[in-house]
Amino acid sequence: MPDQFRIARERMVSQQLAARGIRDERVLAAMSKVPRHLFVDEALRDQSYSDFPLPIGHGQTISQPYIVALMTELLGLQGHEKVLEIGTGSGYQTAILAELSRFVYSVERISALLFRAKTILHGMGYSNVHIKLDDGTWGWRENAPYDAILVTAGAPYVPEPLLEQLADSAVMVIPVGDEFSQTLVRVHKSAGRITQETITGVRFVKLVGEHGWRE
Ligand code: SAH
Repeated sequence: MPDQFRIARERMVSQQLAARGIRDERVLAAMSKVPRHLFVDEALRDQSYSDFPLPIGHGQTISQPYIVALMTELLGLQGHEKVLEIGTGSGYQTAILAELSRFVYSVERISALLFRAKTILHGMGYSNVHIKLDDGTWGWRENAPYDAILVTAGAPYVPEPLLEQLADSAVMVIPVGDEFSQTLVRVHKSAGRITQETITGVRFVKLVGEHGWRE
């Protein structure tokens, strides 16, 4: 059984990630290492390395592997960073960030998902991950500023608190658009100036909160 998942994972990395242009060796190595199947429901494990998102309960989804790789690569992590993630969900993306940076602060608004992700991540021994239950559109002020911010839910606009909590010379990756489709945007902060770069079309569940979609 473990072998079957390892083989599926290697195939995922070569056929879905490397073949589509993911070049960052550290991202490819992290995605070869982290057991994605442990972050999904047992009944869905045989699909966990497939080329699509999967339901994780509460109307939420674990992102498609390629999207996880793309968003992570766009952050350009070197290993020393303090990263803020909004939308812990399954915790899979959190684990990838934990492999590639110094500290990960992750915010989730659904307590059942947070509890599950926390249990899995701590069970795997990630001691550099901190998760809290909150509306992540406010960021996580106590630990700001962040060297990178990743939002894994679709926002109507870039939340102002996240821009404020972004360190200088840092980047944020966030899907921005309507509730049906979004554009992946990379935001740069440099000498206090904000610039934006559009990457590609994506489809995420809604970022629900004060500086997002209202409930
Ligand atoms: N990266 C996750 C994505 C999960 S889906 C994964 O691959 O598993 C997006 C997640 O964002 C959901 O768990 C949803 O509950 C959460 N979310 C939505 N709005 C939020 C908010 N304002 N603050 C924190 N989490 C939020």
